[in-house]
Amino acid sequence: MKHEYSYYFSEVVKDLKPSGIRKFFDLAASMEGVISLGVGEPDFITPWGTREAAILSLEQGYTSYTANAGLLELREEISKYLSTRFGVHYDPTNQIIVTIGASQALDLAFRAILNQGDEVLIVEPTFVSYAPLVSIAGGKPIAISTSPENGFKVTPEQLEAAITERTKAILLCSPNNPTGSMLNKSELEAIAAVIEKHDLIVLSDEIYSELVYEDEPYTSFAAVDGMYERTILINGFSKGFAMTGWRLGFLAAPSELVSVMLKIFQYTTMCAPHMMQHGAIEALRNGYHEVEAMRASYCRRRNYMVQTLNEMGLDCHMPGGAFYVFPSIKSTGLSSEQFAEELLMQEKVAVVPGNVFGESGEGYIRCSYATSMQQLQEAMKRIQRFIKSKKLVTL
Ligand code: PMP
Repeated sequence: MKHEYSYYFSEVVKDLKPSGIRKFFDLAASMEGVISLGVGEPDFITPWGTREAAILSLEQGYTSYTANAGLLELREEISKYLSTRFGVHYDPTNQIIVTIGASQALDLAFRAILNQGDEVLIVEPTFVSYAPLVSIAGGKPIAISTSPENGFKVTPEQLEAAITERTKAILLCSPNNPTGSMLNKSELEAIAAVIEKHDLIVLSDEIYSELVYEDEPYTSFAAVDGMYERTILINGFSKGFAMTGWRLGFLAAPSELVSVMLKIFQYTTMCAPHMMQHGAIEALRNGYHEVEAMRASYCRRRNYMVQTLNEMGLDCHMPGGAFYVFPSIKSTGLSSEQFAEELLMQEKVAVVPGNVFGESGEGYIRCSYATSMQQLQEAMKRIQRFIKSKKLVTL
């Protein structure tokens, strides 16, 4: 070959950086006795009824493609679920697509709406995939920073200041990964006014909507007055239903948007796996009580983590949802990379340095509490010992 491989790569792909989370996973995986607070997935196995339905589907020979948008039966269940749980109504025949995880729903949405140079506002600290997906689709991610002073929540003023003539969309993620912060109804309404004024499309990533711990009911962005028409609602089974490995998600939106996304989907993917869709039907029909039990367990762990971290001098705001805490490690004088690396080497606890979630994540670490209480207690002991050994904070 005359050229280096890099000659053949697209410019966009050349500039993408590998996910910073992976680097720590790989390091942690090569060591023994590591407690990982790094992973972003439930420690629960998918409830048995759901697994059994997928097994039965295979036994009965459902090995063919399904309709592109997914089994109508599943779309009907998703439609019922969205209207009962969140009060948003979607026609299963033309407003819902069953996707390969929420990840693919995000990809489809960005590809469907972005032209070269279109700007998408992303609230930081942010889930690591959003900005790369925007870039891959030809758009330009624009970060808006948040901090614990306002509970890691974006304000209407910040939004207004970030909007330009090229702004086409905003990505909202509530509850948020990595901060766990959740926007309540009135906060969403305040943001909606700015979105309406500037005529933006909203990608609402609601993947953590089942994992919320406050009394206030969860508000889907599509349920906010005037927002239904401009929202692409993204959700899935990975987190709330403990089904990460099934790779099943969905999107719901006005039919004109859905038909464009479906075109991309039918050429790139055809459909989600048949037997997995049968499992998901069962999860929605009969598995909801198990979601509630998992939520109660996460809530106890959240409370324990926040209290313990604050007691050891790592300021930690109370997240409203998801399964992450995002304590500040600024009092230690270490960068978040240094903190994560030294903690792993010295005490074998894996956490994710906050800077992988964007610049405003510097000075924080993300700890997932989707692991057993016993493991969490041991991890907290080790973190406390780490801090003491370094005489990093006065306790
Ligand atoms: N959005 C957020 C905010 C996430 O944290 C994740 C998973 N870490 C996803 C989307 C992707 O989820 P899925 O497994 O459904 O692709």
